[in-house]
Amino acid sequence: MGRLRVGLDYAILPLFLACALGGTYALLAAKLPSTAVIGLVMGSLAALAAILERVRPQRHDYVALDQPLPTELAHYLFNYNLGYVLAIVPITLLDTELGRRMAPSLWPSSSPLAVQIALAGVLGEMLSYWQHRLVHRIPWFWRFHSLHHSGSRMNVARGARFHFVDIAPALFFVLFPLVLLRAPEEILTWTATLCGSLGVIEHSNIRLVTPQWLDRILCTPAVHRYHHSRDRAESDGNFGTAVMLFDHLFGTYVQPSGAGPAEVGIAQDTTRPGFAAQMLDPFYSGLALLNSRPRWFPRAPSKSTKACTRSAWPEDLPGSCRSAEEAGRTFVSADEVVQVGACAESSVAPAERTA
Ligand SMILES: [Zn+2]
Ligand SMILES: [Zn+2]
Repeated sequence: MGRLRVGLDYAILPLFLACALGGTYALLAAKLPSTAVIGLVMGSLAALAAILERVRPQRHDYVALDQPLPTELAHYLFNYNLGYVLAIVPITLLDTELGRRMAPSLWPSSSPLAVQIALAGVLGEMLSYWQHRLVHRIPWFWRFHSLHHSGSRMNVARGARFHFVDIAPALFFVLFPLVLLRAPEEILTWTATLCGSLGVIEHSNIRLVTPQWLDRILCTPAVHRYHHSRDRAESDGNFGTAVMLFDHLFGTYVQPSGAGPAEVGIAQDTTRPGFAAQMLDPFYSGLALLNSRPRWFPRAPSKSTKACTRSAWPEDLPGSCRSAEEAGRTFVSADEVVQVGACAESSVAPAERTA
């Protein structure tokens, strides 16, 4: 019985990916349009992951959702799908334009399908790795990406909790190099479903085990949990979301060990509850950032300014500062502190950070 359980722990990830492969293959063979194939495969895998999380959870304290189910579903139905559409429209236009100009295909279409899919996985990660690193570094983008890092539990709901402003470019940069090389539509579909299925399971709270050699190649749940760690030393790495090649190349790979990070989330989580607030707040704080003098590098600490981790909700926007002390409020991004300061002049202490 014990051996069977251990065997199942190791088999879960391969079985899950086999479902993604089998589903994609069957639906493509049935000549369904790409969008339908991706939607059906992703919806089915998300439902399967949600069931497995309840049958064999990795951590019992991660079983409950961070926020009410309607809010999590709204993020999935609205943000995830809108982000997908916003990425696919320019990709389709680019593909059409390249076809109209009779641009030659540089894609190795005669190679075995497995080779093409592996190549697509690596090329797709090439730009999206940097896109992910930058959204952690640039305050304006972090306001949108922080939604994905908010909350204190790792489960399937987090896998779809993206702001559309964040997920649309992420998807676009996965597909962009493939379209430039004129990869066939079938390969784009395979890439979307396989990267998407990894995205589902890497956030899931399913009890499973992955060997170290696989953790070094793919973004497994053990690997991605470290990217969501509340401890900044652990979360400032593993930016790959499908393959880990670029984390190895650029020195950001964090090797999973033991039971994983003690806690996930953001050290000072300023995300307000509710779908509307989570949709609109990044725009408010983003506008405030645009009105401020952006500082891309941390400045020397100053005793004159009170560092604070509150986000700038509407009442905090420059112009509505009610006192010199309020003027000292700061945005705290993943990598540096940026002052919102049409009415704040003093420098900022890079003392507290959120990710
Ligand atoms: Zn991230
Ligand atoms: Zn994630």
